[in-house]
Amino acid sequence: TFTAMVIDTVDGKPKGAFREISLADLPDNDVLVEIAYSTVNYKDGLAITGKGRIARRMPMVGGIDLAGTVVESRSPDWKPGDKVVVNGWGLSETEWGAYARYQRVKPEWLIPLPDAFTMEQAMAIGTAGYTAALCVDALEKWGSIKPGAGEVLVTGAAGGVGSVAIALLAARGYVVTASTGRPETHDYLASLGATSFIDRATLAEKGGPLQTERWTGGIDSVGSTTLANALSQTMRGCAIAACGLAGGPDLPATVLPHILRAVTLIGVDSVMASRQQRLTAWSRLARDLDSRKLAAMTRTEPMSNLPQLAEEIIDGKVRGRIVIDVTR
Ligand code: NAP
Repeated sequence: TFTAMVIDTVDGKPKGAFREISLADLPDNDVLVEIAYSTVNYKDGLAITGKGRIARRMPMVGGIDLAGTVVESRSPDWKPGDKVVVNGWGLSETEWGAYARYQRVKPEWLIPLPDAFTMEQAMAIGTAGYTAALCVDALEKWGSIKPGAGEVLVTGAAGGVGSVAIALLAARGYVVTASTGRPETHDYLASLGATSFIDRATLAEKGGPLQTERWTGGIDSVGSTTLANALSQTMRGCAIAACGLAGGPDLPATVLPHILRAVTLIGVDSVMASRQQRLTAWSRLARDLDSRKLAAMTRTEPMSNLPQLAEEIIDGKVRGRIVIDVTR
């Protein structure tokens, strides 16, 4: 047997706890992976604490990201010894996830571990970092951000998505303004490449529908009034890529920025992103993410600390990224 973090219903509510499971308990998917590392994303925090209804069937093994080695495969696409990564695809929601020594997964969920990264680095990136890359891809595709010209806003800056987004944008020469509620992280955010800061409280207060135009683009992991203000401050014809709800799932906004300034709100979903989108995002990470910056934003923790780490990320206290060593 081996230890897994399992979400189950306790007193009518979802809650994570450690349980012993065996290979015989795993779902009958075609590829058995020995997991080395996972991560803690905001969504993992919601799942373990039960503060969000992430697990859609119980019992559910948590963990939305894994890096590991193929042990057995009934698929021609993968063979024992292959080093692989899975992000999303319903792990911890409808499919058993990564907080365990082994998991059986579907072959189409796997991508090869990029040559540029160790398994630990791939998990330092994790869903948060890969989503940051999807957001930069979306903004570049939209075409309104220009290296060296105009500011790009990153909200939830000291979190996982925010930290990687800043590093990726700075690497391509974009001028990054970081919104954070933690002024003590300014030096850290500057080391990742942010050049200006705004206090997240100013974006969290309800503002007018059309404010002074400032952003040529933005990456928002906060939602709610923060996203509404970001849209109201976006320059004509420019776009904000929205991926998160750390400040709330609501969007108290008007259509005015969209219909009077042709501002675009680009939605970014990492869970069901296509294989091609994933490979493109991981190529960007391999090309642009400085390994020293990645190390500076990451700490590795044993799986046994998951309950406390889940509370920390929901309370907005985690800086950057957490890797989980599932063997400890
Ligand atoms: P994280 O590390 O906890 O980062 C979130 C950051 O948001 C915090 O570090 C904090 O930054 C800020 N924040 C927290 N609570 C806030 C509040 N009440 N009001 C305003 N700002 C607040 O989480 P993450 O893993 O990077 O994920 C960020 C968000 O993106 C989450 O909502 C997550 O669910 C979402 N997400 C979505 C996708 C997708 O596929 N769409 C993928 C990945 C993540 P400061 O301390 O710097 O202010």
